[in-house]
Amino acid sequence: MNRPDPSRPVVLCLSGHDPSGGAGLQADIEALLAQGCHAAPTVTALTVQDTVDVTDFRVLDREWVLAQANKVIADMPVAAVKLGMLGSVEMVDTVLELMQQLPGVPLVCDPVLRAGGGGSLGKDDVGYAMRERLFPVAAVATPNLPEARILAELPNGTADQCAERLLPHIEHLLITGGHGDETEIHNRLYSRDGSRHDFTCQRLPGSYHGSGCTLASALSGRLALGQDLRSAVKTALDYTWRTLRDAEQPGHGQFVPRRL
Ligand code: PLP
Repeated sequence: MNRPDPSRPVVLCLSGHDPSGGAGLQADIEALLAQGCHAAPTVTALTVQDTVDVTDFRVLDREWVLAQANKVIADMPVAAVKLGMLGSVEMVDTVLELMQQLPGVPLVCDPVLRAGGGGSLGKDDVGYAMRERLFPVAAVATPNLPEARILAELPNGTADQCAERLLPHIEHLLITGGHGDETEIHNRLYSRDGSRHDFTCQRLPGSYHGSGCTLASALSGRLALGQDLRSAVKTALDYTWRTLRDAEQPGHGQFVPRRL
């Protein structure tokens, strides 16, 4: 039987597993399915958490991560790569090694360092290593403002000040808002050529688990489909907003975006 060409682009996801299903690889898979992409999930770390917070995590051995991802790379045409929780500096170097086999493939870097509940998913050093070594090979990074402040080492910096510090390391940076108490959420895409694009949306009530993962995955899917960066950001932000509007509270803590 001749099957038609399976034209859904493949996105290699390198993220942690969240057993509550709100964030991490499950978020990646769901958000990518919703874009019409095929997610190829490589586990970087296991976490112990519910919708309230993270209590522990364990980063996988680098050999296991390389083995998982290399199997996929040898088997499928990878159209984009999405990074989530890496958990250790060694894992940053492992991802860099993998990216060297994928020249020209867009990399979306979500610099995950904390869970929504505030628990740690990696030391700040992991963020600094991402900034120094992965940002230069990434198409775009998607920190929220608290993450951007850590990465820029500006604890009280504005998004503009953080971007100024980070743009020497990366070509495009999407800093998302929503962590203050403003009624409108301001997301801004910064590019090294000096251009800036604002995407504003209405704040939704509640706090969410996995919103950053949803956004970065949707963006990687849009890039894998060939959309240009600016419109991919717009599509991914609009999609993420809808998943938050329709979010559910499956446990006792944060709301989980409804991605499908
Ligand atoms: N990746 C993993 C494995 C996580 O457990 C979490 C949060 O709990 C995140 C990423 C980041 O989640 P968010 O999208 O809420 O920032």
